[in-house]
Amino acid sequence: MAKKNIDWANLSFEYQPTDMSYVSQWKDGVWDDGQLVADSNITLNECACVFQYAQTCFEGLKAYETVDGKVVIFRPDLNAQRLADSARTLEMAPVPEDKFIEAVKQVVKANIDYVPPYGSGAALYIRPFEFGSSAVIGVAPADEYQFRILVTPVGPYFKEGVKPIYIRVCDCDRAAPHGTGHIKAGLNYAMSLHNIVEAHKLGFAENMYLDAATRTYVEETGGANFLFVTKDGKLVTPESDSILPSITRRSLMIVAEKYLGMEVEQRKVRFDEVKDFAEIGLCGTAAVISPIGKINDHGTDIEVPSGMDEIGPVLGKLRETLIDIQEGRLEAPEGWIVEIK
Ligand SMILES: *Cc1c(COP(=O)(O)O)cnc(C)c1O
Repeated sequence: MAKKNIDWANLSFEYQPTDMSYVSQWKDGVWDDGQLVADSNITLNECACVFQYAQTCFEGLKAYETVDGKVVIFRPDLNAQRLADSARTLEMAPVPEDKFIEAVKQVVKANIDYVPPYGSGAALYIRPFEFGSSAVIGVAPADEYQFRILVTPVGPYFKEGVKPIYIRVCDCDRAAPHGTGHIKAGLNYAMSLHNIVEAHKLGFAENMYLDAATRTYVEETGGANFLFVTKDGKLVTPESDSILPSITRRSLMIVAEKYLGMEVEQRKVRFDEVKDFAEIGLCGTAAVISPIGKINDHGTDIEVPSGMDEIGPVLGKLRETLIDIQEGRLEAPEGWIVEIK
């Protein structure tokens, strides 16, 4: 077997079919053993709960090559736990953690030639998802579910070096207090599509959402958590029940404290203190950290001191350190790197 003939460095973040996907069905109260399938289409009844009542949730992680040529995934136990939390919140059957990890390993192995080579900056994106597959017309959870995993190769997030972005404060809300902001569900994304399309039209890369109840505190963007660095070098990240618990953010907090000796704080962050931070970034699986250079607040720009040219020194070091850990150039904490091949 040999790597697919793909221009890895110029791949974008777009879906392309691969050889195999994983499928398991939940019926009569149990998950079947699951299998790999070559067909990337799904046939479902038109009244399936996923179509009518959006009963679906997902995860996102990457398989990539390390410096010593192994194919690995990063902290999949946390993706498994988060998918199960999302499923329970939506009254769906949770996928057991060991079944999730085994399935991810199987589907990556079956598509191993799509894992980009070390150093390309590209990765094999893994998208586990679950949905209510049986028909319902009265509002109720489905009584059958599918857990599937598709994989697709994606290019480096920053093709020409890490570039700060310009974002805006959004007047719409992402998640209600005591709602579903803390789970990775398609429903949280559906209502963000209009806001992001509008932001892009106006020249902004992302929307900063504030807390829906008081519009006083910073929450997150449509798909990434915020990181702030104070002028005296402390890492601060917002605390809220309606933020998605990013695995990248949770890992960076540990890296900041244990590898870089930084002080780390998770607390409510008022929007009116944003102007006082030295560096601001967004974090998630895709980019690890995207620096923010400017934030537009209803026509007025808040200029982040680290500027629009490059990532600031603290977030730069943090990003580099996590990537060194992920790619095997620095020793990882126990259990963070799971080897596939
Ligand atoms: C997936 C996601 C993130 C990032 O989470 P990671 O586990 O770091 O990839 C942040 N916010 C939202 C809303 C998300 O859906």
